[in-house]
Amino acid sequence: MKDITKDDIQSNIPLTTAIKTQWLDEFIAFGPCTVESIEQMEQTAEALVKNGVRYLRGGAFKPLTFPYRNERMYELRLEGVEILKHIKKQYDLKIVSEVTDVSTIDDVIDTFDVLQIGSRNMYNYELLKEVAQSNKPVLLKRHFGASLRDFLGAAEYILSGGNDKVILCERGISVANTHSLTSRFIADIQVIPIIKKYTGLPIVIDPSHATFDSTIVPDMLYAGAAAGADGFIIEAHPTPHTAAVDRQNHISLQSIPELLHKYNGIKEIIDT
Ligand code: PEP
Ligand code: MN
Repeated sequence: MKDITKDDIQSNIPLTTAIKTQWLDEFIAFGPCTVESIEQMEQTAEALVKNGVRYLRGGAFKPLTFPYRNERMYELRLEGVEILKHIKKQYDLKIVSEVTDVSTIDDVIDTFDVLQIGSRNMYNYELLKEVAQSNKPVLLKRHFGASLRDFLGAAEYILSGGNDKVILCERGISVANTHSLTSRFIADIQVIPIIKKYTGLPIVIDPSHATFDSTIVPDMLYAGAAAGADGFIIEAHPTPHTAAVDRQNHISLQSIPELLHKYNGIKEIIDT
């Protein structure tokens, strides 16, 4: 890790982010965007256990672009938390799930093992201060409009609040020409080595939300691994075409073994 220089300080890259802690060995998470049913989560959990994956993702609370919910696009909220609680017990998996509001933290804290801060909430400093009070790891997703300085500033809220278990997550940024057919967001691959150069925090990649396209999720995962990512979070579903949210970017459970095989191969080369 590079020492933070005077120039870095002047440009306000926060100092606490530079402290390297080795608390995380590997972060690999798969699962649906949204918790839909016990059956859906059991099928997903079984695939993860079979492939030696330890982290299961799934949103009970979903911040969606439009306020409308219907039988095709929905969130289960507290019912989803109950499903996650059951799955956690049955499969001994670590649950990664989004916390959207300070008022719901008490309802989820015993069930969620990694508190996910969604990209939209990266700037919600009251929420960041609240998760800093917990002793749970926090997956901090980068807002799609955030500079590195803003991203690290958000991390600093959690770190300086007393929680040093922050995992940064690059999930795609919005630049000119995004929201087009091929790229709603752009995976900022080069931020990965920069974060490793200037901070001691783990940085993982989310190629699902960066691409919104399941056919190129593997490519961006491999690019992230080659750039030095410390892990990833990917949306996977037993039947991707029926997913309640983000059906266009879910990969199938069957594609997990090949993905892991290639990812591990790249990591092995990069880590030597
Ligand atoms: C998610 O991971 O469920 C999600 C909503 O992602 P983001 O906050 O990055 O849009
Ligand atoms: Mn999603």
